[in-house]
Amino acid sequence: MSSSTMAPPKRPEIKTALPGPKGKEIIAADAQFVTPSYPRPSFKLVAERAQGVWVEDVDGNTFLDCNAGVAVCSTGHCHPEVVRAIQEQAAQLIHMCGTDYYYRHMPALAQKLDEIVPVPSPTRTHFANSGTEAVETALKLAMHATGREKFIAFFNSFHGRTLGSLSLTSSKVAQRLGFKRQVLDVVHVPYPNEFRNPFRAEDCGDGGAGAGALNWIEERLFKTTTPAEEVAAIVVEAVQGEGGYVPAPKNFLKGLRRICDQHGILLIVDEVQSGMGRTGKMFACEHYDVQADIVCIAKGIGSGLPIGVCVARADLMNWKPGAHASTFGGNPVCIAAALKTIELLQGGLVENSAEVGGYLKAGLERLQKKYDCIGDVRGMGMMLGVEFVEDRTSNKPAPELRDRVEVACFERGLIILGAGANTIRWSPPLILTKENVDVALEIFDEAIAAVV
Ligand code: PLP
Repeated sequence: MSSSTMAPPKRPEIKTALPGPKGKEIIAADAQFVTPSYPRPSFKLVAERAQGVWVEDVDGNTFLDCNAGVAVCSTGHCHPEVVRAIQEQAAQLIHMCGTDYYYRHMPALAQKLDEIVPVPSPTRTHFANSGTEAVETALKLAMHATGREKFIAFFNSFHGRTLGSLSLTSSKVAQRLGFKRQVLDVVHVPYPNEFRNPFRAEDCGDGGAGAGALNWIEERLFKTTTPAEEVAAIVVEAVQGEGGYVPAPKNFLKGLRRICDQHGILLIVDEVQSGMGRTGKMFACEHYDVQADIVCIAKGIGSGLPIGVCVARADLMNWKPGAHASTFGGNPVCIAAALKTIELLQGGLVENSAEVGGYLKAGLERLQKKYDCIGDVRGMGMMLGVEFVEDRTSNKPAPELRDRVEVACFERGLIILGAGANTIRWSPPLILTKENVDVALEIFDEAIAAVV
């Protein structure tokens, strides 16, 4: 087809003020009856239905979704094959409680995970309902398997908000405020952010921020507050998510692996946000050629249905009946969605994440050249961060500008969400096309121009 006869790309359509009249009613009811603890962003989307990369709100406005319900709808909204798998399963068996009874879904997904998860096979899988529960499982398992109680985690990490995982989480003070003493003994290390290297040059040597962090653990923690032989596990995100979409430096995870092996410490990699194809490989760990002892997965694995899994070396997950279980964990409907999701990811969506994600990144880098307020463009696949600064000479964080860009995009029909203090995360459904990217970049460009 010649370009003159090609249909114009689909674009967002905004017909009302945002939020519109129906949206306003729902927001008012929400303000009255729903907990105010949800960290809602500076724009207000009231969703009614969604298909693929498109979301329609209650007032009939259509948005291009480059957030995927916070990195969850990996196969796009309501992928027809996922919907069919859910419907068929729901008509057959919704619940039986896998902690007490058996059904084929649990071993089927566990076996599939054994093939794809970056943990040496044989593995075993524990099923839960969310990311934070997957992390709780990992923490309990690490304590149980090692007989140790201390953990090492990283500043700006996010691992969930239940009491165990909250002891690790450190991306915003609001997550901790009011909860006083943490339940677990966790020591935090600065994350080796290469754009904002927190370590002294002499501690990094030629190895950059990654070497600085490893040095911090070995030379400071182990020699002062935290004897290595008392550490159960190091818990790390291969790409920090809520902390601002910050990928680990090249040799950092390998260095953590070495430290863990040297001291009998377990390496827990939290792939809740970075897993399931988001970075252009099935798991972010694969970019670093590292295997973990325990991996936590949630978000993208169920295409929107609530499922969280903790996959561990079989020799570690050898706890006794009753040690850890959950009524709803591994629900057959959620597993049906997960199995179909993995099939679709392996059938081309991981590849698409790498290819179209690379196309998106190149476009964002072009915008970085155009705007002095874009300090950094980083990430892999469809897990990309754009960090806003006052100017590239000072690189001073510009959180308010970031918020203004987020709102300006929304007003033009593009859903993108902040991460960390001053970064915008791009975490679209992995079905995003280059045509969608062109539309998204045009809006992003226009939005930045309107607010700088
Ligand atoms: N771990 C990581 C890396 C996350 O990004 C999140 C959520 O954003 C969690 C854990 C917690 O997941 P959930 O919100 O499903 O409890």
